[in-house]
Formats: sequence, C-alpha cells, structure tokens
Amino acid sequence: MGAPPTRPADRALAKPRRRLPAAVAALVALLAVGAGVLLDLSTPAPRPASAPADEFSAARAYRNVEVIAARPHVAGSEANDRVREHLVGTLRGLGLDTQVQDAVAPEAGQLSGAAGGATLARVRNVVARLPGTDPTGRVFLVSHYDSVQTGPGGNDDAAGTATILEVARALATGPRPRNDVVFVLTDAEEACLCGAAGFAADHPLAADGGVVLNLEARGSTGPVIMFETSRNNAKLVDVFGRAAPHPVGTSFAVEIYRALPNDTDFTAFLDQKFIGLNSAYIDGGAIYHTPLDVPARMDRGSLQMHGDNALGLAREFGRTDLGDLRAGHDDTYFPVPGGLVRYPGWLTLPLAVVALLAVGALGWLLRRRGRATAGTLAAGVALTLVPLVVAPLGAWLLWTAITTVRPGYAELLDPYRPVWYRLAVVALAAAVLLCWYALSRRRVGPAALAFGGLTWLALFGVLLAVLVPGGAYLTTVPALAGAVAALTALATRRDGPWPVVAVTLAAAVAVVILLPTVVLLFPALGMGMGAVAALVAVLLGLAALPVVDLLHPQAGGQRGLLALRARRLGALPATAAALAAVVLAGVGFSVDRFDADHPVPTHLMYALDAGTGKAAWLSHEEAPQPWTDGYVDRSVSVADDFPGLGDGELRAGPAQAASLPAPKLETLADTRAGDQRTLRVRVTPQRPVRLLTLHVDTTTATVRAASVAGREVPVKAREGRWGFGIVFHAPPPEGVEVTLTLATTGGGPVNLRAMDASDGLSALPGFRARPAGVGVVGSHSSEMLAVARTYPL
Ligand SMILES: [Zn+2]
Repeated sequence: MGAPPTRPADRALAKPRRRLPAAVAALVALLAVGAGVLLDLSTPAPRPASAPADEFSAARAYRNVEVIAARPHVAGSEANDRVREHLVGTLRGLGLDTQVQDAVAPEAGQLSGAAGGATLARVRNVVARLPGTDPTGRVFLVSHYDSVQTGPGGNDDAAGTATILEVARALATGPRPRNDVVFVLTDAEEACLCGAAGFAADHPLAADGGVVLNLEARGSTGPVIMFETSRNNAKLVDVFGRAAPHPVGTSFAVEIYRALPNDTDFTAFLDQKFIGLNSAYIDGGAIYHTPLDVPARMDRGSLQMHGDNALGLAREFGRTDLGDLRAGHDDTYFPVPGGLVRYPGWLTLPLAVVALLAVGALGWLLRRRGRATAGTLAAGVALTLVPLVVAPLGAWLLWTAITTVRPGYAELLDPYRPVWYRLAVVALAAAVLLCWYALSRRRVGPAALAFGGLTWLALFGVLLAVLVPGGAYLTTVPALAGAVAALTALATRRDGPWPVVAVTLAAAVAVVILLPTVVLLFPALGMGMGAVAALVAVLLGLAALPVVDLLHPQAGGQRGLLALRARRLGALPATAAALAAVVLAGVGFSVDRFDADHPVPTHLMYALDAGTGKAAWLSHEEAPQPWTDGYVDRSVSVADDFPGLGDGELRAGPAQAASLPAPKLETLADTRAGDQRTLRVRVTPQRPVRLLTLHVDTTTATVRAASVAGREVPVKAREGRWGFGIVFHAPPPEGVEVTLTLATTGGGPVNLRAMDASDGLSALPGFRARPAGVGVVGSHSSEMLAVARTYPL
C-alpha cells in the first residue's frame, strides 16, 4: 500500500523467487564443476602387490620405502651405507649394470651464503643403466636416497627412490626402450645437492646431457605436482600432458617455486644444461624433515601417482627422439579435469591485451545501454579494491591471532591438520566478498561491480604477463571469459535464459582455472601465507560476481519495504560465510592440538669450544617454546665463535662442557715466498661426524686460492673475522686435505678455526629428554652437536 508503483516487468523480476531457481541452477552447476576439479586433483587408488608386472604398484614400491626409511640415514652415515647396499643389490637383481660413483663434489647453485666460502661433500651415487635398442639420447630418473639427520625420510625422498626402483623393475621386465634409461640415486642432496652436482658435472653417462625426471616429496600426501621445468619447455610439457596418466602441473608453480627457498637435485642438472621435469607431492608438510617423516605416514595414493606418472613418462621419453625436444619457447599450462591445457607462452601478452580490450568494450556497451554511467563504472573499479585488500589482510590477521594463541605453529611449515584452517580462510574470503558486494551493489549497481571485477582481473593479467608470464593465465582467461559472457548477456533478452547460462559458463571457467590454484597454494605456501590463497579466492569470486548477483533481488526493481526485505536477503550469504569462517577456524583450533603424535616442534643444538672449554645451548626459535626455554635465556651471534653455524642471531644459554675432541689439524706443508704463504693442512674428525668446517681469520691473512681434496674451490670472502670458510659434508674418517694460498698480513700466525658436527644431543651432560608432545623442528641444524677449536699456524 505504501510502496511506490513500479513497472510490472520490474516487479515480476524483483520477486526473489523468480531469480531463485536460476541462482540455484547456476550454483549447482558450479558446485559440480568444482567437484570435478577436486576429483581431478585427487590421488589414484594404490595398486596391490599382485598388480601386473608391467604396471606400477604402490604396494610393491612401499616395501622398498620401509627398507630405505627404516632409520635416519644422513650422507656419510653407516645407515646410509646400508641403504646404498640395498639399492645396489636391488638394481643388480634386475639385471641392470649398476655402479657406485664415489667422488668429492661441490654444491650446486649458491646455497651456502652463510659459510662465506665453498661447500663440498664426499658422495656415493648409485647409477644403473638400462641400455636402449637404438638410442637418440639418455633419459635420467633421479631421486636422492640420503635423508636429513633429524628423520628417516619416509617420504623425502624414500618416495622418489622407491618409485624409481619400481619403475626400473617395470621397465627391465618389459620390452627394452629405444633410448638409454639411467637411474640415478643421488647422495648428499639434503646437505648441498652435492651428489647430483657431482653426477651431472663429472659422470661419463652425464657427458651428453639428456632428459631428467626428478622425483621428490616435501610432505606426506596430496597430488604429485610437476612444478618445475627446464627453460623452453613446450615439447617437454607436450609429452607430460600426453604421457603422464595424472598430469597435474602448472606454469604458475614454476614461478611460485622460484620465490621459495627450496632447492632440489634438479637445480644441479639445470646448471649442466640438462632438460627435464621436476615433480613432488607437497601436502602434509608438517612432518617435512622431522622424525615423523616415517613410512607409515605416507599416503600410498601419492606414491601410486608418482609411479604412474614416472613410468608413463619414462616409457614415452624412452621412445621419443630426444634430439627433438628443445623447443624454442615456454608454454603456459595448467590442469583441467581430464587433462592439461597448454598454449605457447608468446601468446600470454597478446591474450592479456585482448582480455583488457574485451573488458573495455563491455564498459562502453554498459554505458550505451544505460546500465551504468562513467561515474558508476569508475566507482565499481575503485570499490573492487576493497575485497582484494581486505580478504588477504583478514586471512593474515586470522593466522596471526591463531599463532599468538598457539605459538608452536611458528616453527611448522603447515599445521598437522590444516584442512579446517584452509576452509576458514576460504570462508573468510567469501564473507568479505559477499558483504562488500551486498553493500556496494546498492550504491553502484551490479553491472558496475561486475565490470570492476573483470577490470582488475584483466589488469592483473597484463601485469602478470609482463612480470610472471607463467601465471598470467590465472586472471587473463577468467577476465576474457567473463567479458565475453557479459557481452553475450547484453546481446540477448534480459529475462530469457541466455544471460544466466552465459555468466554461469564464465564462472565455471574461473572455477576450473582458479580453484586448483587455491587448493594447491595452501600446501605450497603454508598457512602463514594463507593470504595469497585468500587473494586468489577473491579473484575467483570476482569472476563469478554475476552468478553471486542472482542471490540478490533484481537491481532497481524494489522500493520501500520490498527493498528492506531485499537488503536483509542480500546480507544472508555474507552472514552465513562469516559464521562459517568463525566455526571452521574454531574447529581447526580444537582439532589440531599438539599431542604425542603431533608434537610441537622445538629446535636445539649444542656448541663446544674445545680450546676454551666453553659450551652453549643454541636455538633458532625466535620465541622459544617452554621446553627450549629451559636451555636458552638470551640472544647472541655466534659468528665469531662458530662461523660454521652462520651469522644470524640465535637464542643461547650456558651448558656444561662435554669431553669431546675438536677436529685435529695437521700441517702437511708450509711454504713462503714474499708475502705469499701456501699452507697444506689435513683436518681430521676425532669422532663420527656429519660435517666439517674450516675457516680462515681474514684479519691475519687474505685467501688468494684454495683447494679441497684436490679440487679448486671459488674464493669468495664474506664480512666478519672468519671471512673465508669451507664446509665439507660426510667427511671420510681419514680427514680432508685443504691447500690455502694466503697473502699474510703482518707476519704473525694465521688463525684457522676447525669445527665438526655430529647429530643427537641425548648423551650430553645436562640434556633432558623431550616429554611427549614436544618434537624436533625439521631443520638441517636441529639436534646438531658442534665442536670447534682455533689453530694458530
Ligand atoms: Zn629434503
């Protein structure tokens, strides 16, 4: 009675129930597409030990996982010798020509910035060859068989190693491939990628390069992602899409991976001009490098996926002409249900520009049709910044709040049971988007907001095409699909079915492209960077705004009381999402408690100066856990006392001196010519150790040249007293010979500081065992026991 009259057509459309069926149909369609996407990312069922001989069986591979990862087997340890014997025996048992490459090898890439010198290791790689019938080159299947010192490496990388053994079995029992297939099980990956570097640079089978398939695991579950390729990957990606039964991989992952501080053996091969693909499963990262990385925690579905893909790729690269694989460009590629989409990377920028033009055309047409004004369109673009900023900020605040209440999360890559938290972040992003939409819609209308969302997607597309081309598809393709759908909607009857069909199809494209990214970004970056996943979730929501709009009554069709009711209805989805975010975060918090099976990680090491008899407990924890707090009480830099431990700030506390010998330093030769002095020394550990370091006091001499075990090493000094140093992993018991060519200052003695490190603190005086619920941080210095001494020569 009190409501002003409206046109009949508007009134009909204004009734929520007329739009509700359309909204429900569109949402059901999108949910079905989303389910298809998630199904595509799931792992296959593990095949039993009775599977046919030419197939990959996770059950058969898992038997080797149990042998390889029975205990920690760091490079140079006796446990690692046992693993190597098992690998050699298994490969020889398959009739393969199997050798051990025993060498001293330098690190790959630039890993040891902290050492201020050179890093090397004594490595023993297991190399087996299946000769091809008419080879055009070599295919290398690579994984590392050493583990970290803190855990048995049940996944990292017993998964890759056992996969290769099972693939070798399947290949050796079937018809011989055309190309040589070489199985390379590397040593000392965890220490310095030295095994892979030594193989790639020095092994005769590596002399002509070839195609490398590197297999890794940085977690315990999830789909195997092909996350890194060599440059100019078009033909490799083509083979991957055709020959991998579960081709999950995206050119965006390559860009993400470059921004992360991880490295794998693959780097060592790329340094030596090999080409290839790098694959890993990465979910369940809480156990990464910890004592919990045991075989029993492995998802056999992930193992099956590793094996299916590795075997499919080994067969295909085994018959392909390998001389033909170096295409001239990179591809953009991403997974879609049922396969891999790829297009040439050079299309990225033109496509981004086309998407921007299409969105521009949409804006022009919206104005012409009177659906928006220049002012509302500009407001739509400006307002869209709000969810783009607020949702990531909200995700960051949520995680900051959770880690404040539960500080143990700080040392974890990801929580043990992260799924509730991930869903909470997605719900939070949805709440921000829906709330923002309900509020802004009244001011500028749905058309201007849809335009605003597409504008940002298209702009990001251009930006990414220039800066991160492998990721440009993420926003370019949804922007293009959205613009085409909106133009189609404008060209058809407003009350007919086609506008709804068109915008639903465009939203489906966004789901296919962006949902896998949201799902995979969480494990890739961890909850600490959940904000990035929240941002991608908002981008997905922006691409789907016209479908979201169906949840609201028709724009401009209601006045007075009806409008009030409409507002209440419009607020419903946002309220539901906000509630879901709170509930999910709460469930996550109560489900993911620390207990004996899911311990709070702590970091502790011990350092002894055998010269002064002073010892200290040290920890990397910035805000120490209660257990660690019993050992450390202040912040120190150990750069002057233990240069082998790096120069960052550590937490420290006093410790009793253990009666442990420092490495012995003997002078083998000492010659002087003018101000130049050449020192040949041998550093010998006096106990079983994992690594050895030797640093030169650069206030007493400048290092001109250095060689370690007969190998020249680069001379790059760093700031501070111990400006040049050598780190040697897995030193042989007879010690390591180092030759230093020095320019002496003054004529006084030259100070050398030798340190070695073993693992395990339990035998130390004053050490109290961790109670249940307290665990070990998966770090390369956890549980390290270092002994150092200065030798004036
Ligand atoms: Zn590792």
